Amino acid sequence: MRAVGEVVRATAGALTDLVLPRICAGCGLPGVLLCRTCARAFARPHLAQPRRFPAGFPPTVAAAAYAGPVRPAVNAFKEHGRAELVRPLGAALALAVAAVRAGVSGAGPGTPVLLVPLPATRAALRTRGRDHVAELARAAVGVLRTEGVPAGEARLLRRRGRVADSAGLSAAQRRANLAGTFAVHPRREVPRGTLLVLVDDVVTSGATLTEAAAALGGTRRDDTPVLAAVVAATPRRDPRPGSAAPPAWTSTDR
Ligand SMILES: [Zn+2]
Repeated sequence: MRAVGEVVRATAGALTDLVLPRICAGCGLPGVLLCRTCARAFARPHLAQPRRFPAGFPPTVAAAAYAGPVRPAVNAFKEHGRAELVRPLGAALALAVAAVRAGVSGAGPGTPVLLVPLPATRAALRTRGRDHVAELARAAVGVLRTEGVPAGEARLLRRRGRVADSAGLSAAQRRANLAGTFAVHPRREVPRGTLLVLVDDVVTSGATLTEAAAALGGTRRDDTPVLAAVVAATPRRDPRPGSAAPPAWTSTDR
């Protein structure tokens, strides 16, 4: 019979392997959470360009293209319980927030920024047992503060009622499906001059961010634009030269 200590050590080791699989979440390289090569794929901030720019789509920076090693890494965090990936993915989100903030004319180093996580659907919360976007937002705020950015998190949005699953719907159907999805917490005031940055894990059609930006925009008493930052954006399949021009966003545009 093995000594109790030995069994405990063996069990603990096995549990550690379960909780922290020691392979890169992007490429499967053993011994690391996210290898250097895959981590670099999360440090390419760019403007997200959904294929059909929905009217009102907020200026959105993605830290990565949702392709290659980024897809399995995001899914490992989101769907397969590799919660420890919150650090690299949260850092990627912080990078996207910093980049979108830098694009606002008139925003200086002291301009405060509030990250507004897109609220999960009840169904998603039930399935995953956690709010992974809120986890990302919290981690990103930590990174931004470490870098001296006055950042905070504000859960300003909530979901209204039930929303049918939008998988398989056209962009127009998705918009209709989402119409009136979000409501703003009425008692949460946003200080003037604070930049509001919606945050999410992945942007695909842009419909959800557009809907959320509309809900938030209606609450602003000043002309500060609502921005968005995501870990990854589904790349356009038809990159046209010239289409990469960023939509202008300055605090005087709206
Ligand atoms: Zn890797």
